Amino acid sequence: MSEAASGLDALPPLREVIAAHGLAASKALGQNFLTDPQLLDRIARAAGDLDGQQVYEVGPGPGGLTRALLRAGARVTAVERDRRCLPALAEIAAAAPCRLDVVEGDALALDEPARLERGVRIVSNLPYNVGTALLVRWLEADPWPPWWASATLMFQREVADRIVARPGSGAYGRLSVLAQWRAETRIALPVHRSAFVPPPKVMSAVVHLVPHAAPEGVGPGRLSAITAAAFGQRRKMLRQSLKSMPHALDALATLGIAAERRPETLMVEEFVALAAALS
Ligand code: SAM
Repeated sequence: MSEAASGLDALPPLREVIAAHGLAASKALGQNFLTDPQLLDRIARAAGDLDGQQVYEVGPGPGGLTRALLRAGARVTAVERDRRCLPALAEIAAAAPCRLDVVEGDALALDEPARLERGVRIVSNLPYNVGTALLVRWLEADPWPPWWASATLMFQREVADRIVARPGSGAYGRLSVLAQWRAETRIALPVHRSAFVPPPKVMSAVVHLVPHAAPEGVGPGRLSAITAAAFGQRRKMLRQSLKSMPHALDALATLGIAAERRPETLMVEEFVALAAALS
């Protein structure tokens, strides 16, 4: 048994913790808990070697993933909105002295760069109702490269597919362009709905993102305006969907992008070139 794991292995099983602390899952807080230590260890491993690394976890809940991250040797800063989870998290903190810092509050309101080390790894089973908003915020971080070194995140499968979708696929859209402009993205592991307590209606998947090192010379605001206009009228040709955007049709011509194309056929690089031409 590793030193990192020793005190943690004496903690009661998660199902007992959930029952003992009366953590009936709240739908409003997007609560679906993971309890299988082997699966949780696999998710922690998907983040790479965490030994000695700082990890930022949003929504630890009863702390299943938190335990796995600590078992992997990480130092964890976790922000949790549900006060009911704090006693269970305090027990974990006591079993891993000086390695778990729990912040009570809303992750959307946290000043992350002020609170976390530069190069922190984000690992989280995100609450589905704020997961996309958090990811977009992390991808739109300024300056770039950002304060986080990687993000290993559980999403509903449909959102995970949108993050990694390539041109031509039905899932390809604004989130794909933003995510792939700023990061390498891949599905690290699919997770069956039955792994959660309570099981959600849909499947999930863990996505792993690593920021690209170099800035691309265009800001997220401009890129977002173009993808909003283009994908807002997904079935229309760019000639139609971008016509109210000043100079956009000229920029298409200059870049040699046919105005008859539909947005889902454009590569991420073509959207970025368009945004740069209009900046
Ligand atoms: N990490 C745990 C696990 O894997 O079993 C729980 C994951 S559950 C899907 C999401 C967690 O995020 C819940 O514990 C919920 O209370 C918490 N949460 C929801 N909204 C939040 C917010 N805005 N800020 C911080 N935590 C939030």
